[in-house]
Amino acid sequence: MFGCVLRRVCWKRSGARRSVCTTQPEVRVRFAPSPTGFLHLGGLRTALYNALFAKQRRGAFILRLEDTDRARLVPGAADAIEDMLEWAGIPPDESSRRGGHYGPYVQSERLQLYSQAASSLLHTCHAYYCFCTNQRLELLKREAQRSGHVPRYDNRCRHLRPEQVQEKLALGVPRVVRFRLDSGAEPFQDLVFGWTRHEVAAVEGDPVLLKADGFPTYHLASVVDDHHMRISHVLRGSEWLISTAKHLQLFRALGWTPPAYAHLPLLLNRDGSKLSKRQGDIFIQRFREQDVLPESLLDLITHAGSGFNNNRIGRRLDELIEEFNISKITTHSALLDLDKVHEFNRVHLQRRIEDPHTRVELMEELRQRVLHTHGSDISDHAVLEPHYIQRVLQLRKGHISCLQELLGHSYSYLWVRPLVSLQQLKDVSAEAADIAAAVIQLVGAGGSVSSTERLNRELKLLTSRLNTTHSSLMRVLRLALSAQQKGPSVAEMMLSLGEQEVCVRLQRALEP
Ligand code: GLU
Repeated sequence: MFGCVLRRVCWKRSGARRSVCTTQPEVRVRFAPSPTGFLHLGGLRTALYNALFAKQRRGAFILRLEDTDRARLVPGAADAIEDMLEWAGIPPDESSRRGGHYGPYVQSERLQLYSQAASSLLHTCHAYYCFCTNQRLELLKREAQRSGHVPRYDNRCRHLRPEQVQEKLALGVPRVVRFRLDSGAEPFQDLVFGWTRHEVAAVEGDPVLLKADGFPTYHLASVVDDHHMRISHVLRGSEWLISTAKHLQLFRALGWTPPAYAHLPLLLNRDGSKLSKRQGDIFIQRFREQDVLPESLLDLITHAGSGFNNNRIGRRLDELIEEFNISKITTHSALLDLDKVHEFNRVHLQRRIEDPHTRVELMEELRQRVLHTHGSDISDHAVLEPHYIQRVLQLRKGHISCLQELLGHSYSYLWVRPLVSLQQLKDVSAEAADIAAAVIQLVGAGGSVSSTERLNRELKLLTSRLNTTHSSLMRVLRLALSAQQKGPSVAEMMLSLGEQEVCVRLQRALEP
C-alpha cells in the first residue's frame, strides 16, 4: 500500500485541450455552486454562460452541488438555487431533482468516488498522508505572518518513511491526504484568458485532498466529478483560474484527460467595486420579489459582459443562445449597472405584452393581482374581463416597467371607481358641470372613444364650443375619471376605461 507502484502515469503532456473541442462530440458543462448561500448575480451569470454554451451546442447543462464544506451549509439553499435557475428559465438538464445518468449530483453522496481517487493517488505516490496537527499548522501560519510571508504548508509529511507512516496509521493518529504538487508548471490554453501558466508549487504547500473527516476538499471533488460526469468544458469565474494549474496536475496524476477551461471575468458594480452579498440586493430571489422578469435579468447580465457581437437591449433567452459567441468573451471585468434593471424590465415587459403567448399569462397574472389588491373595492367586474385587462396592458406598454406599478395608487382608477364630488370639480373649473355634461354627450354619441388621436381632436373641438380653456377641460376630466392630478393622458384614460365607464364616472360626479 505504501510503496508507490507508478510515479507517473500515462497522461500525455499535451496540456489541456486547446480549443472548443471537436473530437469529443458531446458538450457537457456544469454549474457547481456550494449551497452555502442563495443564488446571487455572480452565480446566475456563471450558470447562464454555461447554459448558453450547452444549448448552443445541443449539449447538457448540469447542476452539481458542492456541499463538502459541511460547516458552511445553509439549510434550504440547495433547493433555492435550483428553484431560481428554473425561474430564470435555465433549468439544468441533469441535477439531483431532475435525475440523469451521471448522478448523484450532490458531492456528499459521492464520497466513495473521492476516497477511491485518493487511494489511487496514494498508491501511485502522487499523494501522501499528513499527520501534522492543527497546532503545528497554526504555528507555521503565525511564523510566516511574523516574517511577512504568505503562509503555506512546508510539506513535512512528504518525507515520512513508509514505516513511519504505517506506524502512525496503526496508532490511529488523525491524518489528512495531501497532493504532491509538481514543481514546474505546464501552460494551458484557457478559452478566455489564452495561454496561462501558474507555478503553483512555488507559492503553495501541498494541498489537502481528503480531510480528517473523510470529506474531500473542493480541488479533489471537483476534478473527480468533472471526470466522472464527463464534463467537456469548465466555464467558471476567473477567481478559479489559478486553481486550474492544480486541477490539471490532479488530472494528469489520475491518468484522466482534463476538460477545456474558460474562465469568466469578474462581475463588478458599474463603478468597479465588488458586488457585495451583504447588500442583499444581488440575490436573485430579491429581483423576483421586485417583479423583475427573468429575461430582463439575463439580458442585463449579458449586457454587462462580453461574449456577443453586439450589446443590444431586449434579447430573450433564445436570442442570447443564438448570438452567444464564446470567443468574444474578453478578460475585462464585466461592469453591471443595476440602475438599468427598470429600463430592461420595461423593454421585456413590452415584449411580453406584444407576444400573444406570453400576453395571456401576463393578463391572468394581472387579473389575479388586481383581485388580490383591490378585491371588494372593485366596482365593476368588467375590469377583470380579458379585453379590459388586455387594453390596459396595450395602452401602458412601454410606460410601465413592471406589472406591480399598475396596482399602485396612481393606477387604482383603472380598477376602482373614484369618489369625486361636483364641488371638487368646480374647484378646478367653474364650468365643470357643463364640461362633464358635454363630454357625456360626446362619448354617449359613440365612436369618439376609438383612438387617442380622435379623442384629442374631439375634445379640442369641445373646448372651443364651451366657455373654457383646454387645460381646464382636461383637468376636470382627469379628476372626474381618476381622482388624480397626474397620470397617463386624459385620452388614454378614457380609452382604457371605455365609453360606458367614462359616462358612469362623469354622471356620478354630476350628482349633487
Ligand atoms: N463550488 C465552487 C464555487 O462555488 C465551484 C467552482 C468551479 O466551478 O469549479 O464557486
